[in-house]
Amino acid sequence: MASVTQLGYLGLSVSDINAWEHFATNTLGMQISARGDEGTLFLRIDDYHHRFLVHPTGKDDLDYFGWEVTDEHALRAMAEQLKAAGIEVRQGTPAEAQARGVVDLIAFKDPSGIPSEIFYGPLMAFNSPFQSPRPISGFVADTQGLGHMVVIMDDFDRSLHFYRDVLGMRISDFVQVERPPGNKMRLVFFHCNPRHHTIAFPAMPNPPKRLNHFMLQAKSLDDVGATYYLCQDQGIPIARTLGRHTNDHMVSFYLRTPSGFEVEYGWGARVVDDSTWQVQLHTAGSMWGHRPASR
Ligand code: FE
Repeated sequence: MASVTQLGYLGLSVSDINAWEHFATNTLGMQISARGDEGTLFLRIDDYHHRFLVHPTGKDDLDYFGWEVTDEHALRAMAEQLKAAGIEVRQGTPAEAQARGVVDLIAFKDPSGIPSEIFYGPLMAFNSPFQSPRPISGFVADTQGLGHMVVIMDDFDRSLHFYRDVLGMRISDFVQVERPPGNKMRLVFFHCNPRHHTIAFPAMPNPPKRLNHFMLQAKSLDDVGATYYLCQDQGIPIARTLGRHTNDHMVSFYLRTPSGFEVEYGWGARVVDDSTWQVQLHTAGSMWGHRPASR
C-alpha cells in the first residue's frame, strides 16, 4: 500500500501575525524564508524552503496538513486509496501547487473534517542554508519531516483506521492517562519514517482547538535549555516544565504560542526501526517532569 513519508508542511491560521513573526523567529529560532500574498509568513527550519505557512486569517488553530509522498506515482496511488475508502479527493490546481511551493498536490478532508493535502516535489533551498536568527544548532527535520503534532479528533476509531489503513502510517504506541483526573484518555501515536511519531491524537467531542501542540526537535540539549530560560526572560508562558517522555524519550518543555496552542521544544528522541519495532502501551506520558506551569 502507498504511504505518506513525512509531514512536509503545516498551515496555521493566526490572528496576530506580527506577534507570530516575533515569536517564531526570536523565541523558536525559525527563519523567515518568504512573505506571500495576504500577509502569509513562510517559515523554515531545515533545507526545505518552508515548513510552516502562517496565515493571518484569525482561527488561532491549525489550517491544514501537508503530507509528503515520494513522487507522482505515489501521489496517484494515494488518491486511489482515498477514493477506495470513500473519501472525496480534489486535484490541486497549478496555482495551489505554486502557493504551497510543491510540484503537485491533492486535497481532501480527514475524518474530523481537517483540510488535508498530499503533495510531492517540495521546493528546496540548499543554495541558501538554514540560518536561525538565534544562536542555536538547528533542528532535526529533513527526511523525518518538520516534527510532530498532537491533534484532537472527533472519533478515535475512525481516525485510527484512516491514518493507519488509508494514509498508510504505522502505530508506534498508545498512551493511556487520566486527564482530567478520573477521566481515562487514550492517545495513539503514528510514525511514517524513523521519527517516533509524526501525528498523535486523542478524541473528544467539540474540542476548543484541533491543535494541541506541534513539536520542534533541536539538534542539541543546550538549545532546549537556552530556549527554556529565554522564555522566562521574554515573558513567554511555559505550559509544561522540562521533562522526558516515556514513549519517544524526548527531553522537552512546552511553551504557549500567541494563538493559545502549544509548541513542544525538545531534544534526544529515539527513532523507530520498523524491522524491530513493537507497539507498546504506556500509562504515564513522562518519565519525569512536564509539570503544568503557568496558564
Ligand atoms: Fe509532543
